[in-house]
Amino acid sequence: MENPMHILDQTHAEFVDAFFRYFGKGPHYSTPVYRQVMKTGSLDMEALPVFSEAGGLSPQVEEKICVDAGEIVQSITENGVTKFVTRLTDGMAVESVVIPMLRPFPGSMSRRVTVCVSSQVGCRMGCRFCRTGKMGFFRNLTPAEIVGQVFSARHHFGEPVRNVVFMGMGEPLDNLENVCQAIRVMTDQRGLDIAGRRITVSTAGLADEIHSLARMDDIPVNLAVSLNAPDDVIRSRLMPVNNRFSMATLRESLFSYQQIRKKTAVFVEYVLIRGVNDEKFHAHALSRYLAPLDAKVNLIPYNPGPAADFSAPSEAVCENFRHWLVAQGVFVRKREEKGSSIMAACGQLGSGKHFY
Ligand code: SAH
Ligand code: SF4
Repeated sequence: MENPMHILDQTHAEFVDAFFRYFGKGPHYSTPVYRQVMKTGSLDMEALPVFSEAGGLSPQVEEKICVDAGEIVQSITENGVTKFVTRLTDGMAVESVVIPMLRPFPGSMSRRVTVCVSSQVGCRMGCRFCRTGKMGFFRNLTPAEIVGQVFSARHHFGEPVRNVVFMGMGEPLDNLENVCQAIRVMTDQRGLDIAGRRITVSTAGLADEIHSLARMDDIPVNLAVSLNAPDDVIRSRLMPVNNRFSMATLRESLFSYQQIRKKTAVFVEYVLIRGVNDEKFHAHALSRYLAPLDAKVNLIPYNPGPAADFSAPSEAVCENFRHWLVAQGVFVRKREEKGSSIMAACGQLGSGKHFY
């Protein structure tokens, strides 16, 4: 088929334009198509009343529209957490995780989930503690391949997706253009309709791209930074990206991000690694570093995978570290690790095959 219309790459407005170019029909036709595909996952155009009026058009539309969410080749569920593997058109594979939200909103009993999406096959940042970092970099995902993971969670697994976090495989700010387009598509109210405030982009700290993101008014998402260390010596050992952007440079970019995007706290991820960054003076150095920022710290106990180079801290050390930060006035949460038994927890993606 020549030139299919890749709907998952497109916002509603872009789809309306493309539809007009192909079929000479305006939004009276294209808007219901976009809505139906994005909101229900169905490509059955006959189901739409406008097509029963315009006989003959629906087979052409069905043939032209391409929903390239990839093929789900594997999925494992445990304790409510599902990890699924998507085979992309070139045979490369990415992993995504569906995590139930504990309390979507006060008093609510209804189920809502967060989807943790990948933005690249592999990652070129090479963080020493991260499984994805160890597999190296293969390629960027397209906007459709990123959106496809949310689409699959909703329409293949039937999950009520409310939040999206870019905390799967890859460094989203290393694929900024495609990640931003994916966010425009996900947040389109006529389609997937995920609120920007419910989307979090997590970065290893690409300061230049944080500056760029800050200026994009149409990308109203939360920012999380994987800091993981209280000073440059430790951070450079763990995260080679720190040799490009020091912690001072990173903090400047976060500070200006907060100035431009008023009233937004940045989330700071801190993976606690035994004997590396888990002592009291580390907590104090971290709190001094964060003092000028409006930051919320997420403590993540290190997840050792097979052949891990580091060890996890004890429960007691995690708790102490949290207390030391709280005592310094830092807002901190300890992340409940879910999914580690199926290698779906932070830093464990990329442990399976990445080519199908
Ligand atoms: N590349 C982005 C997005 C991936 S998020 C980033 O690094 O922010 C992956 C998160 O898992 C990061 O916060 C990272 O610090 C954390 N992580 C990586 N390896 C881990 C491990 N072995 N145990 C616990 N957390 C880990
Ligand atoms: Fe890449 Fe993030 Fe893993 Fe570092 S922690 S290697 S940036 S995915």
